[in-house]
Amino acid sequence: MVNKGFNYFMPTKLVFGDGVIYGLDELVHGKSLLIISGPFLYNNGTAQKVAEATKIGSVAFFHEIEPNPSCQTVDQAVMIARENKVDVVIGLGGGSAMDVSKMVSCLIDNEGSIFDYYSTGNRTLLPRKTQLICIPTTSGTGSEVTNIGVYTNNETHIKMPFASEFFWPDIALIDPHLTYTLPPHITASTGMDAFCHAIEAYWSVNSNPISDALSIEVIKNIFENIEMAVKEPNNVEARSKMSYASVIAGISFSQTKTTGIHAVSFPLTVDFGASHGLACSITLPAFIRFAYAGRKAKMDYLFSVLGFDSMDAFANRVETLMVDINLPTRLSALNVKESDLDHIVEVSMKAPLIHFTPGTMNEEVLYSLLKSIL
Ligand code: NAD
Repeated sequence: MVNKGFNYFMPTKLVFGDGVIYGLDELVHGKSLLIISGPFLYNNGTAQKVAEATKIGSVAFFHEIEPNPSCQTVDQAVMIARENKVDVVIGLGGGSAMDVSKMVSCLIDNEGSIFDYYSTGNRTLLPRKTQLICIPTTSGTGSEVTNIGVYTNNETHIKMPFASEFFWPDIALIDPHLTYTLPPHITASTGMDAFCHAIEAYWSVNSNPISDALSIEVIKNIFENIEMAVKEPNNVEARSKMSYASVIAGISFSQTKTTGIHAVSFPLTVDFGASHGLACSITLPAFIRFAYAGRKAKMDYLFSVLGFDSMDAFANRVETLMVDINLPTRLSALNVKESDLDHIVEVSMKAPLIHFTPGTMNEEVLYSLLKSIL
């Protein structure tokens, strides 16, 4: 029911379908292109295939993106972009490459380093003039349709999101074929990241009727397709539905932001080496049980639409699914010990996202939630 006002803003043009990368020449506007990716997509020729499809004559590649990209990596890519007087940036990869492409495309038209704007930097980004195209190759983050970039400061060991109105990509090009090379463990963890986006958007204190409808669609599709995508990497239908679920989840949480699951994921990634998807999904069942208390009627509606007769039935199904796709549900799988919990709680409680979780969330509550899944 719509009982309060809400906003909806998503300015990115979305192009979805098998083979859509081959239509890039009709979408790019520029003479000098930089493709930002990780080494895998460069070494297997995908980055070059994308470059050819643009039909742009001058192309530079930066293919050193690491998972959970550092500010230092962003600055290296900015140097290449400025040297080549780039006017189109393509972020090709998972959230890591796409997030770097967002900051790089802005810094071409701004002076200085990422550190001048992010973290303790206090300069304000001026409008981006460079065209920004994001092409996801994982089905997880939805970064191609958000105005967020997440970066890790290697000096302070702090990972945190940065939002800018200039980070909305001009174009999100989603070609499910690009995800076929994902190994099962990355398909599983990134797919459950998209599940977290959807359910966090749904229970968020910032949720709205559009994000609610999108989130329900995402959760249904992930329940129906993730196991198949993990077990049959070339399954056209499952891969396509997971790409679809991921981008729709991105649109949903781009309106609401995420909540406690993502707040806790930051220290789990930085201090315990978990991939982003794993760091999120590992606390998902516990957060479902916690968030239910603060959102009973709304969550009951979700469960009934999806065919579950109780919160326990839903949470148990999520846990079984995670076991079936080989994802851990206990923090001990990341070598987290009880003596680590104070630190995880302290870092998580500093992330503003934690306060979008429904119900009463404080240090004691978060500590006991995490202790219950040690
Ligand atoms: P990722 O981008 O770090 O990629 C994970 C691994 O998968 C890498 O080793 C990469 O090379 C490999 N890979 C990517 N595509 C592949 C393919 N098609 N085949 C084979 N290997 C492939 O992982 P991710 O989960 O997509 O992104 C995580 C990052 O995104 C984190 O830093 C997270 O915080 C951030 N994130 C951003 C947003 C946003 O809105 N901007 C949202 C959620 C997460």
